[in-house]
Amino acid sequence: MLSFLNNCSQLVQSDCVLCGAPTAQGQVCPRCGAALPVSSGGCPVCAGPGEDRICGDCLREPPPYTRCIAALRYEFPADELIQALKYRGALALAPILAEWLARAVAHAPRPDLIIPMPLFPARARARGFNQATEIARPLAHRLGVRLDTTSLSRIRDTAPQAQLSLPERRRNVRDAFACARTVAGLHVALVDDVMTSGATLREAARALKRAGAAEISLWVVARALPRK
Ligand SMILES: [Zn+2]
Ligand SMILES: [Zn+2]
Repeated sequence: MLSFLNNCSQLVQSDCVLCGAPTAQGQVCPRCGAALPVSSGGCPVCAGPGEDRICGDCLREPPPYTRCIAALRYEFPADELIQALKYRGALALAPILAEWLARAVAHAPRPDLIIPMPLFPARARARGFNQATEIARPLAHRLGVRLDTTSLSRIRDTAPQAQLSLPERRRNVRDAFACARTVAGLHVALVDDVMTSGATLREAARALKRAGAAEISLWVVARALPRK
């Protein structure tokens, strides 16, 4: 079913990216679209599990951002698509993910600025692109919001978070970001592909806050639920 992911250069724009069936929209056929693991409900602040109420974690320790909006749950096929973009350079998938994110934020408060989560420069060079920027660019264009890829930067490389506990994740990314004051007084939407514990996004949001951002929204393509 997902054999196309290994050979995205042959991706034919008029075929469904998931099943290969012809589709008028040129993206995802109605059948696959209906089966996408759409993210709904949950904590209105962090989009974590819950019943449309602010979760205990956010009440105990209010995050530096106002709200998180996730388009999908990080499950099949969203996980496969994001991994194909990130690790196999399937850049053709970025505008599709951006389109799903655009739909999810259609009724959300409009930001002044869209900022993609920066990678550490050496990491971005090794990969050749930043997946968050690839998603944020068509999203910003579609919504008519200014894209800013320079104000926020990652000033420290950090170990992968996957094997770490939440306190370790927080420590690992502490002060990993710097932000210019060009965001002062603005509502910023910080865009990323996946949010898991949220520790890295939280730290980036802290840097934006320190630089004077008035309000921060997190817009992520997919929300993964962290292991407890
Ligand atoms: Zn399909
Ligand atoms: Zn929460």
